[in-house]
Amino acid sequence: MTVIRGATTIAEDTPEEIRAAVRELLEQIESRNSLKRDEVVSIVFSSTSDIHSFYPAKAAREAGFESCSLFSAQEPDIDGGLKLCIRAMLFVEKNETPHHVYLRGARVLRKDVAQKFNVAIDGPAGSGKSTIAKLLAHDYNILYLDTGAMYRACALAALRAGIDVSDEAQVCALMRGIALDIVYRDGVQHTLLDGEDVSESIRSPEVSMAASAVSKHVSVRMKMVEKQREIAGKMSCVLDGRDIGTFVLPDADFKFFLTASADVRAKRRADEMAAKGYRVDFEALKREIAARDEQDSTREIAPLKQADDAVLIDTSDMTIEEVLRTIKQKMQEKI
Ligand code: C5P
Repeated sequence: MTVIRGATTIAEDTPEEIRAAVRELLEQIESRNSLKRDEVVSIVFSSTSDIHSFYPAKAAREAGFESCSLFSAQEPDIDGGLKLCIRAMLFVEKNETPHHVYLRGARVLRKDVAQKFNVAIDGPAGSGKSTIAKLLAHDYNILYLDTGAMYRACALAALRAGIDVSDEAQVCALMRGIALDIVYRDGVQHTLLDGEDVSESIRSPEVSMAASAVSKHVSVRMKMVEKQREIAGKMSCVLDGRDIGTFVLPDADFKFFLTASADVRAKRRADEMAAKGYRVDFEALKREIAARDEQDSTREIAPLKQADDAVLIDTSDMTIEEVLRTIKQKMQEKI
């Protein structure tokens, strides 16, 4: 006997949604496990307490699972758990390694029992990494780690101390004396420099360029990378940066590399800066981004580079929703 697990989510608690979701889930479980209907002995469904309008077991019967026994149960509420989620456990007469199937963002069912996984999103400035990483982390109910913020905080410390950011010895000496902390408040990352919340002040164009300069130094990088690996080792998270898939987490479960044309990236950054109240000189910003990309791509240690096993997505003509959908689809295909 083998147990195959599966889960999916619905957008609304309606009989139609439940029917469609259960049918899709069971079909995928069947096809990925090359199952025959008569090998299924029984299916146990459990759904979150916000699902009332129809029993998943009834939906399975309607979907053609006629001879196996079917049960539906309600799950206890779990703090921070997924909403509108249906889980299935199939008991099958077969002795093969099961392929569990998680659809529609249902991989992380419960923070406490879900398998840990990391998603690496790399790419140049303005490619949409942070927007997508934040949304993805939110949808999967896991942590978002903005690694660029860490280099930015080092850069801010160096600028404030009046240090030459290209001088590794000086930057390194400074780093030894500062406390850099990443904390989360209501799920949002805050970067603290000696206890001060610098999350906003690290976003200026001056800090962007300085961050690129300090991130070239091996001693700075190794310190930051150690912190990033420590966080990613403890919990599921989406990390965005330049070297996550190649250097920080070469074994990350999912890897993406986002790009976009230079114009599109500069326009996105300009809009972002303008929304924050900065006066933006578009051409200067474009030059700054190009210089930063060049510096990030050509540095010796952990340069900006697509990992061989990362999925490349050109986001130039895509909406945020399209990029997010593509990424989730690719993740499902890999599970
Ligand atoms: O992503 P963001 O624009 O905030 O990154 C600022 C700078 O920090 C980048 O230009 C890059 O030089 C550096 N960085 C890095 N490795 C990372 C993330 C950021 O070198 N993983």
